[in-house]
Amino acid sequence: MSESDPDADPNRDSDADPNRDSDADPNRDSDADPPVRGVDVDHDTRCTHYRTDRDVVAFKFQCCETYYPCFRCHQDTADHDAVPWPRARFDEPSVLCGVCRTAVTVPEYLEADYCCPSCDAAFNPGCEAHAHLYFETET
Ligand SMILES: [Zn+2]
Ligand SMILES: [Zn+2]
Ligand SMILES: [Zn+2]
Repeated sequence: MSESDPDADPNRDSDADPNRDSDADPNRDSDADPPVRGVDVDHDTRCTHYRTDRDVVAFKFQCCETYYPCFRCHQDTADHDAVPWPRARFDEPSVLCGVCRTAVTVPEYLEADYCCPSCDAAFNPGCEAHAHLYFETET
């Protein structure tokens, strides 16, 4: 009977775990979920200024290429004057549905008659009064 080799232990403890940190990834889905800046923005892009169940749209401003729930959020948090989205870029998505996070173009937003073309969420028709603050309007 030979004794087993005391130095060879295939099961010795390894305290280096190559799989650690596998669960924390705050940046996942960052493409599908663009950041929305503003004051007290909730997960449906309502803000401290407009909080009804229909205030779930965010608009991208040309000046900083950033979505804000409303022009007052931009006024309160940005350090520059707001520049509305230009007609020349109406083929680029610049209106974000806060419910399903789908970005649509301004013409798609206008044609959809104040609901989301993607998930049918109702948008606030009152936004029309401020449309010129968010994008270039016809006249
Ligand atoms: Zn800006
Ligand atoms: Zn706001
Ligand atoms: Zn939607």
